[in-house]
Order: sequence, then C-alpha cells, then structure tokens
Amino acid sequence: MRSTAYHADVIIIGAGIAGLSAAHLLIRAGLGVSVLEAEPRAGGRLATDEVDGFRLDRLGPLLSGSWPELTGSPGLGSLELREFAPGVLVHSEGRRHLTGDIRSARGALKAARTRSSAPWPHRAPRTPGTSRASRTALSPRAPWASRASEAPGGYGAPGAHGSVRSANGWEPCAPARGGGRGGAVTGAIDRARLGAALSRLAATEEARLLARPERTVADALPGVGLPARTVEGVLRPLLTALLSDPALTTSSRCADLALRDYARGGLCVPAGGSAALPRLLAASLPPGTVRTGVHVTAVGTTSVRTKEHGELGCRSLLLATGAGAAAELLPGLRVPAFHPVTVLHHTAPAPPPTGRSLVLDGDRSGPVAHTAVMSEVDPSRAPEGRTLITSTVLGPPPPDLDRSARAHLAALYGVPTDRWELLAARHDPEAVPAMEAPHDPRRPVRVLAGLYVCGDHRGTSTVQGALHSGRRAAKALLADLALPGAREGSPRLPEAA
Ligand SMILES: Cc1cc2nc3c(=O)[nH]c(=O)nc-3n(C[C@H](O)[C@H](O)[C@H](O)COP(=O)(O)OP(=O)(O)OC[C@H]3O[C@@H](n4cnc5c(N)ncnc54)[C@H](O)[C@@H]3O)c2cc1C
Repeated sequence: MRSTAYHADVIIIGAGIAGLSAAHLLIRAGLGVSVLEAEPRAGGRLATDEVDGFRLDRLGPLLSGSWPELTGSPGLGSLELREFAPGVLVHSEGRRHLTGDIRSARGALKAARTRSSAPWPHRAPRTPGTSRASRTALSPRAPWASRASEAPGGYGAPGAHGSVRSANGWEPCAPARGGGRGGAVTGAIDRARLGAALSRLAATEEARLLARPERTVADALPGVGLPARTVEGVLRPLLTALLSDPALTTSSRCADLALRDYARGGLCVPAGGSAALPRLLAASLPPGTVRTGVHVTAVGTTSVRTKEHGELGCRSLLLATGAGAAAELLPGLRVPAFHPVTVLHHTAPAPPPTGRSLVLDGDRSGPVAHTAVMSEVDPSRAPEGRTLITSTVLGPPPPDLDRSARAHLAALYGVPTDRWELLAARHDPEAVPAMEAPHDPRRPVRVLAGLYVCGDHRGTSTVQGALHSGRRAAKALLADLALPGAREGSPRLPEAA
C-alpha cells in the first residue's frame, strides 16, 4: 500500500463480523472495498485458540439458531451449528432440575406426559461410547424431565429428588438442601405455562416487542405473569446467561428479543469454534480485501491515517471497531458501559453427566453463571475421547478464579472436579456492551454522507446484532451513493451519536 494513494472506494476499519458482513454487501454492489484490521488475524472478539488439540473459544458464545443473519449473511451459507439440548438444566438448592423443552407449551406438556406414562427411573437406551445414544436420550421427545416435578408440592417438596442422566442412565440427584423452599424450579404445569408464554413471544413481531414499555429486566420480571418460582428458577438464570448481565439492568425490550430468539431457535454454537464465523466471512471475500496488521490512528471522510502505511484515500469510510475504539477515532460517539465476561475451559477424566445441556446456576451460589460439556455439544472441539467443559463467569472474576470456579462446578455437575485440568481462562472487561434501558436496538449507523459506523454497540450486543449492524451500515452507504442494494425510497437516515 502506498501513502496518500486512493486506496479503495470504501475503507472499512475493523475485520470483526460487523465489518466483514458489510464488506460482502458493498462488494456485491460493485464497490472496491478494503478492510483494515489492526490485529494479525480477522475475527475480532470471535476467536478460537488451539491448545493440545482442543479448540478453545475466547468467548463462550450462546447463539440462537433463529438469528436470520447467521444463516442469511452472504458467506455464511456453509456455517455449521451445533445445538444444545432443548430446554436448560437449572442447578438450584443442591439439585439439577431438567426443564425439558420449555420453548413451547406443547413441548413442555409432551415431555411431562411422556414421562408420566413411563416407569421411573427412566433409563435412557445405553450404548456406551456412542455419542449418538446420548443425543437420542436428550432429544425433546425423550422422557427427560425429572420425576420430582410431578411429586405433590412440586420440585421443592421436602424429600423430592430430581434426576439427571449419568453415564449409566438416569439417576436421582441429591435431595434439596434444607428440604426445599416450596419449589425454586417449576413443575410440569409451570413449565407448560412458561412454554405457552415463550410460544406467544416466539410468534410476536419485533415491532410489537419494541413498542412495549421499557424498564430494566430486574424491574420487569416480577410482572411477567408467571409464578415467582418460574421467574426466579428459570427466567432469571436464563436471561442472565443470554444477556451476560448478572444484575439484569438490561432493557426489558432487549430481554424480550433475546427470549423470543431463544424460543424460536434454541441455543447453538458454531462447529469447530466461534472463529469459524469470521473465517467463512473472510474466506469468501475477494483475495486481498482484508489487510491484517494495519492499525488506523485517525479518520476523515475521505482518508484514514495508519500507523504502518501513512494516509490512504477512499470515497467512503466505515468504522467497524468496538465501541471504545470507534469513540477514540471519532470523539463524540457514545461509549456504553460493558459487561465483563471470563471464560474458563477445563478438561476432565470423564464427561459430567449432563449431555448436551446448558447448565445454569439458579442460586448464584458461586462465580459460574453457565457451563456446558462442550465436547458433547460439539465433539470437534476436543481430541477423540477427551472432555472439554466450558464455563462462563459474569462480572468481575474472583481473585481465586480457578479454585472457586472448580468448587462451584463440582456442585453444578455433582461430580468431583479436583482432577480437572484448567486449559485456559480468559477475561474480557469489555466483552459485551451493556444494553441498559432506554436502549435503541437500531442505533443510527450514518454519521454523515461518506462516514458510517457499525458493530454490536449499534444494535443488540450479540453476534446477530453485529452482523445486522454491518448490513444496515452497508445499506446506508449504498443509499448515499444512490447505488442499488439499498432499499428503494429509503428515507434520509438519522445521524449517529
Ligand atoms: C467473552 C465474550 C462473551 C460473549 N458472549 C456472547 C454470546 O454469548 N452471544 C453473542 O451473541 N455474543 C457474545 N459476545 C459478543 C460478540 O462476540 C460480539 O457482539 C461480536 O463479536 C462483535 O463483533 P464486532 O464486529 O461488532 O466487533 P469486534 O469483534 O470487536 O471487531 C472489531 C475489530 O476492529 C478491530 N480494530 C479496532 N480498532 C482498530 C483500529 N484502530 N484499526 C484497525 N482495526 C481496529 C479489532 O481488532 C477487531 O478485530 C461475547 C463477547 C465476548 C468477548
């Protein structure tokens, strides 16, 4: 690259998924695009490290299979997703409670009915060493909710036991500490009610959700019309995980959107690690589009200054960095607060008995908010016969992170963890932009004609939000250039701040 040269029609700063998705649309419209990335690799926050044959995500992303950008973005056509088991496994009062498939009332009732007509304890067909058997056992059609939920008094009834699937089949869990407190987690009817509520949410248009009154999730939860035990036992830990927000200060509208996406598509991860997403996006761009190791230090509307190559000219400029870096380059852009996230990866001598389920901490009794046996969800992340457990700590991590996480994980999984080995732990203090109320999930992306901004801080703080912001920014740019690709008759776009 030559200094002060006209470099490209559009320079995009940042090769995260927002910048890469915008690049696709702009190139399709016939523009010459150059994506400048400061790091030696593309992908931004979506990074996967290879350690001893394990593929370790720097983040433990929970994606929704319903996100349109995941399947609809150009370049992501061959993205493979690995699904978690339907429903979630909530650990509360010393037990793990299988919620069954709570995503619809029909699913929840079907799970309950199947279970009540079957003998107990339910024995999953046992085929040692075959992952297919464990998948069958945890499918939504399998009798996988606990008998305790049907006992008089529900989950928290004194002496009631939950059940978990062990390597040998189904086993009762330890009884609730202190005999239970009237049901921290729901019974079959509660689950069906929650399923019905989620079904309704799944069918609700985004515009209607965004027209609802906006509060913090914490303020809105008591009024959702579900029993307190369902709210505290399932919704609170589930939303904490989906929003990376332990205090639930997120906008209730964004929580509605997150729950709706969960209800529509369940949870999944990219096969082989989250870096697969930017890798696919970058690989399907024309060669030479992405320039790594180029750090932009200043921007104008028709040029950027770089540390390595001097000044580069362009027609339009798109800032696709994180919120902090965007505000450094364009002072005046708002920087949100962030949710810090720490991700830990352990390997264990044997997989804990939770199959492909996401395990949530319902009691907030330790640092781990959610955890999963990732080698069961996506076997390609661990060498053959090895186990990978990925756990997420939200908020500032404790000083004795591994020790306290391990103690908590022993309780969450009901297995000793002293022989587990820590493979990696990574803390990101600016992992997820906070979406505090009032939050506009479609923040303007056009600063002025020729200068645009995108990234997860411009939409919802998710992979879907980042991809969609890239699409919106590309359309705004094309509209200003009067090129096809922007929607016909687009109104003048509001200005970004
Ligand atoms: C620990 C953690 C957990 C998460 N959990 C989830 C989850 O469960 N679900 C979910 O959907 N999302 C999750 N996220 C958020 C998700 O990763 C982000 O929303 C998404 O990756 C943001 O993509 P982006 O393109 O907007 O920004 P980024 O990925 O941050 O990309 C910005 C790029 O700009 C580059 N850049 C910055 N400054 C410059 C400069 N001056 N010059 C050149 N290049 C520059 C950066 O190096 C970077 O590559 C999580 C994130 C983290 C860190």
